[in-house]
Amino acid sequence: MKILVYAVREDEKDAFKLYQEKHPEIELEIHESLLTEESSQYIREGFDAICVSQVRAISEEIYRKVANCGIKIWATRSAGFDMYRLDLLKELGIRLVRVPVYSPNAIAEYAVSGALYFSRNFDKIQKNVQELDLRWIKPIVSEEIRKQKVGIFGTGNIGRVAALHFKNLGAEVYGYDLYPSKEAAEILTYVESLEELVKTCDIISLHAPATEENYHIFNEELFNLCKPNLIFVNTARGSLVDTKAMLKALDDKKIRAVVMDTYEFEGPYINKVWKKEDIKDEVLLALIEREDVLYSPHIAFYTHTAIENLVHIALDAAVKVFNTGKASEEVIL
Ligand code: NAD
Repeated sequence: MKILVYAVREDEKDAFKLYQEKHPEIELEIHESLLTEESSQYIREGFDAICVSQVRAISEEIYRKVANCGIKIWATRSAGFDMYRLDLLKELGIRLVRVPVYSPNAIAEYAVSGALYFSRNFDKIQKNVQELDLRWIKPIVSEEIRKQKVGIFGTGNIGRVAALHFKNLGAEVYGYDLYPSKEAAEILTYVESLEELVKTCDIISLHAPATEENYHIFNEELFNLCKPNLIFVNTARGSLVDTKAMLKALDDKKIRAVVMDTYEFEGPYINKVWKKEDIKDEVLLALIEREDVLYSPHIAFYTHTAIENLVHIALDAAVKVFNTGKASEEVIL
């Protein structure tokens, strides 16, 4: 089998090398360039699959070229697939495979670490120490996690692992989900509503997808119901949160701190180097500069294990479809 691979980042190269060592029978042609008009010159007959990872739009001509060259499998090294033209893939008879689960632990660990950062007052401690204030003083006395209540919004793959980690640290863990699950109920206690969750908990961690239904579900009204010591953690999707309302809640001391790995309008900014004057988004700048916000550019997933799994599961899924005609990772178009 021959696979044409695009958009290979430096951090993915070891994973591709390992795959190649394990599967010498599979021929990979690897390109660092994104799939663009220019780099589409590499698309030609003889390949069975194309493997891509990019959020930048791909033109219709490219999809047609892939199909015309007889490439029948499109493997994305991501869980999400909203960046591809599904209508075209369907029309052209190209089958799409993705990586539904690659490492829930990566994201869950990030959420837990971020919550611990604020619950142990690392922000205040670092500030004091850098000002050479080495005193033991009341504002940096911390609450132990085992004395705290943690709320998980969305108790799926990632939410369950986060719940387990918090539980293992001794926290009382609560959850809210539209579809409560038996597995999660073994770890946490379900509450009936999101309002109840925020009224109860000292730490809230978001692990639900972005849907129309939950757009800005964390809004001014909900922040008004939160506990004033709340540590709010969003490693899910930016659009779940009305960010301006969240910043106001911080200003008004209605909540204590925020860990924010996903921001609604992060798209043009993440994974690039910037000069301050070129960042036109005032809200993003505020997130970056505040001491009570730990902002990061959508990197909760970014571990060696997750990267290796993304590469290997995507390639394996393409191979499965090629050899057996089916794979559980296929997106039915
Ligand atoms: P999942 O599908 O396994 O679980 C999501 C859960 O949310 C499900 O149990 C679902 O029933 C629940 N849910 C959906 N809408 C809801 C609503 N309105 N109210 C309550 N519950 C609702 O998903 P997952 O793999 O655990 O991913 C969780 C989130 O993490 C997603 O938003 C995903 O995009 C995000 N994510 C972030 C990163 C990162 O690097 N920051 C990486 C991967 C995934």
